Parts: sequence; structure tokens; C-alpha cells
Amino acid sequence: SVENIPQLPPDPLFGLKARYSEDPRPNKVDLGIGAYRDNDGKPWILPSVRLAENLLQNSKEYNHEYLAISGYKAFTDAAARIILGQQSRAIAEDRLVSIQTLSGTGALHVAGKFLKDFYVSNATRDPPVIYLSKPTWANHVQIFEYLGLKTASYPYWNNETKSLDLDGFVKAIEQAPEGSVFLLHATAHNPTGLDPKPDQWLKILQAIEKGKHLALFDSAYQGFSSGSLDKDAWAVREAVDKNYSFPIIVCQSFAKNAGMYGERVGAVHVVLPNHDTALNKAVLSQLSKIIRAEISNPPAYGAKIVSLILNTPELMKQWEDDLVTMSSRISKMRQTLTAELEKLGTPGSWKHIVEQQGMFSFTGLTPAQVERLEKEHGVYLVSSGRASIAGLNEGNVKHVAKCIDEVVRT
Ligand code: PMP
Repeated sequence: SVENIPQLPPDPLFGLKARYSEDPRPNKVDLGIGAYRDNDGKPWILPSVRLAENLLQNSKEYNHEYLAISGYKAFTDAAARIILGQQSRAIAEDRLVSIQTLSGTGALHVAGKFLKDFYVSNATRDPPVIYLSKPTWANHVQIFEYLGLKTASYPYWNNETKSLDLDGFVKAIEQAPEGSVFLLHATAHNPTGLDPKPDQWLKILQAIEKGKHLALFDSAYQGFSSGSLDKDAWAVREAVDKNYSFPIIVCQSFAKNAGMYGERVGAVHVVLPNHDTALNKAVLSQLSKIIRAEISNPPAYGAKIVSLILNTPELMKQWEDDLVTMSSRISKMRQTLTAELEKLGTPGSWKHIVEQQGMFSFTGLTPAQVERLEKEHGVYLVSSGRASIAGLNEGNVKHVAKCIDEVVRT
């Protein structure tokens, strides 16, 4: 019988989006979901994407046929080169298995399923525990627990200093049972906007090596932190190509950096320790089985668009310009918001908003202040105090600063 199906609460983020849509106030502001908006607060189709769409529609690749189970190879190959680098040793030595997924969420799901089926913790002989930063993107917990995997958290954000708790992080890596999985945000950490500096990354990677763990990189914002694809891939490339021996999986999304949110363009890349043709084929066959059973084959349109961008030098150049357009507008909004708060003399320090990078800022606002921002002012952000800076623009940033000032003071 189907009597006892409990109704779940709405997803916090998509629930917020629904409340925002229904809000009739004309000066409402959406700082919730992590989607880029232009200076008029509108969704932005990247010029590089428009050019690629035109090219695609006039090419022989333009049809709506099925892709292969493993996806569009021109896309997955180019996607690997973007994250691992043109000079990647792992690619040159044929140690990489890549498969197309339903964006970053699908990549994490496929990686999780693969780990559950084929990776055992050396210490316990059970499927590994997936260690997530505290805090992390809320869906991380759900994606892995849905698969029956256990999750745990490692210290990351020090709320007092609003900086990285490196000692806590490294200690957690040292204390985890050998062969655990550490999920690492490749760049633009969600929700804090705080990334380790290169010397801190080295300590993290060395601890992972020592603990014989697996590094699971989640790359959802390459190009959003610095505007440079290469700079934002530094940590991943350091881990893959610098003589570490721990296993690595990279989950890659083009939702944000290509503005292809709804097209679900992504890939998972499994880096093998040695060149081993048989293992390479075995891994690909297992990943393919997961895709076949779950979605049969991945969506074609977005993959063809992104592939055209990555494989056409002029489009690539345009995309790099587009990344600078997005990241520099966000960075300008960080500066303006901070300057406005300082001008108002809003109690507290707001420097961290400028220091953080990527799409988000962990403002330090309390759940009660966030609630008042929504109810009294129509300014929407998630209860953790995370604000999507992309929702700010020249037209609303002063207003948002005033609203923040008001809820902080009273
Ligand atoms: N990882 C992180 C950290 C994210 O913030 C997101 C998107 N919010 C994703 C993965 C996946 O996004 P998508 O499935 O849209 O690619």
C-alpha cells in the first residue's frame, strides 16, 4: 500500500527560489542560488556559447541523435585537458578514464557509486567514508548517503577568524582510517568562498599521501575564482602531476563556468596510478554500466556546445574573456558591498567579503538576521549566511548594504 509516504520539506535552496519568485515586492533581491546574473540581474548567455550554438546549428553534428554511453568523446577529451592541463602527464601517459555525466551532481553520483562498488578502505575493508568539509555544499551529504555511503566532516572554516582551520583539517586527514575519501573543492569553495593557499594545499596533499587516502576533487567553478582556468586548476594539477601516489577522481561541471546550468554538462575523470590498458578498459566498462543503467546515455546538446568552445581556438579565447567578465563583475560587487557597509559604519568587520572568491560569500550573518532580511526587506539568502554575490549589481548593492546594516544593528 502507499499510505505512509512522508512528505519531505522542500529543498532549502530550491524552496528559497520558489519563495523569491512568488514575492511581489519590486525591489526584492535574490542572493540564493549560485547562478551568474549580469549587471541588470538577468541570466547571461555567454557570447562564446552563442557563437558555438550558431556554429553547431550549421554543422553536420547538429542533430538530436543519442550519444554513446560514455558520452561525446570530443567533449570528454577536451574537458580533461581543461582541468588537468594541456601538458598533463596523466593524459600523456594514458592514465585517465573519462566519462560524461549529468553535470557536476551526476559526476559526484557516478564517482560515489563507483567508489561504493570498487573501493574498500584499507583499514576497515568496508566501503570508504567520504569526508566532507565543514561546511560544504548541502547536496554533497545527500548524494553520498543516498548511495548508502557514510559521510563524515573535516574542520575547514574557523568562524572566529573567518579563515581556514588548516590544523584541524590536516589533523582530520591524519586521524581518518587509511583509505578514506577526502572530497576537496578544487576552487571557489562552496559555501565559504575560502580556498587554501598553495602552501596550505601542499600540507593537505602531503597528509592525504601519508594517510593513503583518495582525493575526490569537485571542480564546479573553474575560472570563477581568478578568471583564469589554469590558476583555478592549480590544486588539481598539483595533485595529479606531482609524483603523489594516492588515487584521484575529478568531478567536473560546466554549469557555472559556461553558464550551461540546465543543460547538465559534466564529466568524471578517474586518474589511474600507472599506465595499464586492461585496468583502463575495466574502469571504463564499469563507469559505462552505471551510466547505461541510470540514464542510458548522457545529454548531447550542451556537450556539443562546450566541445565546440574547447576545441575551437577563437571560441576558447572568447570563453576566457567571458570568464573574466563574470569573475571581475563579481569581484567588483564584493568591493562595492564591503565599501558600502564600511561607509554605513555597519558593526563588525566585512573585509572577508573581499578576500573570499568565487560565486559566494560566507557573510557571517546569523540565521535570525537572514530571516529578517527575507521577511522585512525581500533580500533572499540561505540561512547559513551564504550570499551569492552574482545576485548583486550596480542597481541593488547599495540597497542590500542598507538592509544588512539595518538587521545587524537592531
Ligand atoms: N559541487 C559544488 C560545490 C556546487 O556548488 C555545485 C552546484 N551548486 C555542484 C557541485 C554541481 O552542480 P551541477 O550539478 O549543476 O553541475
